Amino acid sequence: MYDFHVHSDFSMDCKYLMEEMVLGAIDKNMKSICFTDHIDFDLTENRIDVDFRPADYFKKIKQVKYKYMQDIEILAGVEIGMQPHLNHRYNDLIENNPFDFVIMSIHAIDGKDIFLENFTHGKEPIEALNIYYEYLYECLKNYSNYDVVGHIDYIDRYFEDFSTIPDFKMYSFHIEKILKTVIEQGKGIEINTAGMRYKLGYYNPKVEILRLYKELGGEIITIGSDAHSPEYIGHHYKEAERLLRELGFKYIYIFKERKKFPIHIS
Ligand SMILES: [Zn+2]
Ligand SMILES: [Zn+2]
Repeated sequence: MYDFHVHSDFSMDCKYLMEEMVLGAIDKNMKSICFTDHIDFDLTENRIDVDFRPADYFKKIKQVKYKYMQDIEILAGVEIGMQPHLNHRYNDLIENNPFDFVIMSIHAIDGKDIFLENFTHGKEPIEALNIYYEYLYECLKNYSNYDVVGHIDYIDRYFEDFSTIPDFKMYSFHIEKILKTVIEQGKGIEINTAGMRYKLGYYNPKVEILRLYKELGGEIITIGSDAHSPEYIGHHYKEAERLLRELGFKYIYIFKERKKFPIHIS
C-alpha cells in the first residue's frame, strides 16, 4: 500500500510528529508513504503564508527515512494551495527544492480559505460550485508544475447540508474541462479517501468524476488518505483500490523525484 497524501506537524492543522505518523504507517503495513505537508501562500486579508521551512522539512524527512528504512519507504512531497497569481512563487519553491511529489489543491478562493472563512455559506450551492470549479480551471490553465490535482471536489466537504449538493449533471461541464486539461498536461489526479472521514460517504473525487476521468483517457491516479493523525493513514485504501479496479483502472501511480511509476492493481 502506498499512501501518497500524509500530513505531519509541518502542517499548521496537524499536531503529530513525522515519526508518530511513520510509526502509524508501519503499523498499517504501508509499503511507502509520501509526506505532503501544506504550503498555502497568501491567505486571508492579511495575506499570510501558511508554510514551513523546506530546509527543516527535508532534514526531518531524511532522519526518519533512514531510521525506518528497513520497515517503510518515506518520500517528501508537498501539497500546494494554488491561486492563479501564485504561479511564479510556487514554481520557484518547487524548482529550488527536491520534492518527490507535488499535489496541487485549491484551499482558498481569492485569498479566502474555503473552510475557515465559510465560503459556501450564504451562497446558492450551484453558485458556490460554479465559482470554485471556474477558479480551479483558471489555476490549471496557466500552471503545470504539479503531479496530481488534490481532492477535486473538496468543496463538497464544506456544505452545511450535504443533501443540498447539486446533481453532478448540473456542473459536469466544469469537471470535463478540468479533467481534459489535466490529461493534456500529462498530469494526474488523486483519489483522496478523507471524504469518508468528513462523513460525505464518498471519496474526493466522487465516483462520477473518476468514471469521467477514465472515459476521457485519464490513467494517472494516486491514492491518499490525507491523514492528519496516525490512525487515518491508509484509511479506506483497499476499498479505494477496489473501486478503481471496478472502474477499469489497471494501475495506481507513485512518484519519486517527480517521476511516476505505475503499480499494477489488477
Ligand atoms: Zn488539501
Ligand atoms: Zn492534505
